Amino acid sequence: MKFRVHTYGCQMNVRDSEAIEALMIAAGFEKSAGEDDADVVIVNSCTVREKAEEKAIGKAGNLVAAGKIAGLAGCAVQRLGEKVFKRLPGLDFAVGPRAIGLIPKIVADGRYPRLELGDEGMGAALSSHVEGGWRSFVTVLAGCDNRCSYCIVPDVRGHEYSRPAAEIVAEISALARRGVKEVCLLGQSVLRYGRRNAAWPADAPSGPAGFSEPFPRLLEAVSAIDGIERIRFTSAYPKGCTAELVRAFREFPKVCRHLHLPVQSGSDRVLASMGRGYTRAEYLEAVAALRSFDPEFAVTTDVIVGYPGETEEDFEATRSLMDEAGFDNSFIFKYSPRPGTRSAAMPDDVPKEEKERRDQVLLADQERRGLERNSRLCGTVRRVLCEGRSKRNAGRLSGRDSGNRIVVWDGEPGSMRDGEAVDVRITGALAQTLVGEAVTPA
Ligand code: SAH
Ligand code: SF4
Repeated sequence: MKFRVHTYGCQMNVRDSEAIEALMIAAGFEKSAGEDDADVVIVNSCTVREKAEEKAIGKAGNLVAAGKIAGLAGCAVQRLGEKVFKRLPGLDFAVGPRAIGLIPKIVADGRYPRLELGDEGMGAALSSHVEGGWRSFVTVLAGCDNRCSYCIVPDVRGHEYSRPAAEIVAEISALARRGVKEVCLLGQSVLRYGRRNAAWPADAPSGPAGFSEPFPRLLEAVSAIDGIERIRFTSAYPKGCTAELVRAFREFPKVCRHLHLPVQSGSDRVLASMGRGYTRAEYLEAVAALRSFDPEFAVTTDVIVGYPGETEEDFEATRSLMDEAGFDNSFIFKYSPRPGTRSAAMPDDVPKEEKERRDQVLLADQERRGLERNSRLCGTVRRVLCEGRSKRNAGRLSGRDSGNRIVVWDGEPGSMRDGEAVDVRITGALAQTLVGEAVTPA
C-alpha cells in the first residue's frame, strides 16, 4: 500500500509529518511519488487560526470524495474531537498531534472509522527520522504551558514536556553519522527547555562553559557533536532570552546568529491583555543584547494585528517597535478568535477591513526595512550552505547564511551538493534575498 502525507502549519507539523513518514516506511508502507497514486493520504492539520483549520479540513474532504483512505492528523483533530467525523463524513481516521505514532497500526488494521486523542506512541514519533538529507528538525520540547490569551496551542498540544538531554544528544549524534550537518531544535517555547520537567539527571555536571540554565547547556552539548556544523532553534519566547542564552550565541560558533522572537504587539496595554509577561521596553532590551556583540545578528518576529480592543494608537506602537527592533523579517497574522481561549470571550471588534489595512501597512514597512537591513550587508562575505537551485532563476544556486537569510549566486545546478558550504560575496540586496557571487577559494 502506498501513502502520502500533506502538511499544513508550523515547523512542528513539518517535523511531525516527517515522523509519520518514517514510521510508515518502517512499518513496510511505501511512500508514493504523488498524491494520485497513493492509497492512503494523511493530512496533517493546523488550528492556530480559523482559516488554517478550514484549509486542512477542505483538503481532507476532497480526498474522501476522491475515494482515498483519508486520515486527518494534528491540531485540528485535537480541537474538534469526535465532531471531526461530523465535519468530515467518510473520514477514515483522525489522530491528535500526540497520537501520530499510532498511524501505521491504524492503517495496517484497516478498521475505520478510528479516533485517537491520547499520547500513546509519542515516544516513537519523537525519535523517528527518515533517511537522507543534510538537515533535520529535532523536537526538544513538546506542548506549551504559557497560555497566551489568544492561543489554542496549549489546548491541542498539551502540557510542556522536555525530552531528556541524553536522548536528544544520542539522536543528533546518530543523525550526524548519517550526514546531517544542520539541526533545528524545535519547541513552541523552546527556551523553556528543562524548566517544567528535568532534562538532565540531578547530578549531571554542567559543561566547561559553566551554564546553569538547561537550554544553553543543551546548546553546549549539541555543539560538541562532530559533524554538526549549524544549530538553529525555534520558537523563542522573549522572557527566555537570558544573559546565558546571549553568551551561548557569542561563544558557540555552530549556533546560528538568528533568533525568531515573536513579539505579537508593541503596545504594553495589548501585551498585558495577551498575558505575554513582558513589556515593550524589556523586549527591545533583549534585541539590543543580541545585537550588542554582532550588529548583523538576525531577529525575526510574529505580530498579530486586530487583537480585541487594538486601537490605532496600539497599532502605531507596534509599527514603531518594529522599526526600533529593526526586524530582518516578520510574519503578520490577522487576529482570529479561537474557541475556548481567553480572548475569544472578548469582542472581536476590529473590523475585517481594518485588520486587512493594518496587515498591509506592516507588510509594506517590512519590505522597506528588510531592504534597508539587507543593503547594509553588501560587500560582506557570507558563509552559505547550499540548498540547490534557486526557485526564481534556474541559473542560480540558493542557500542560507547563519542569519537564515536567503542568498542566491550564479552557479550551475548540480555543481554543488546540498548542504555544501560556500563563501558568497554580497553584491545586491532585495527585501528578502541577498544576491552575490561565489568567492573562489585562494
Ligand atoms: N509558540 C510560538 C507561536 C505558535 S503560533 C510562539 O509563541 O512563539 C504562531 C503564531 O501564530 C503566533 O506567534 C501568533 O503570532 C499567531 N497566532 C496565534 N494565535 C493566533 C490567533 N488566534 N489569531 C491570529 N494569530 C495567531
Ligand atoms: Fe501559543 Fe503563547 Fe504557547 Fe506560543 S507561547 S504556543 S503563542 S500559548
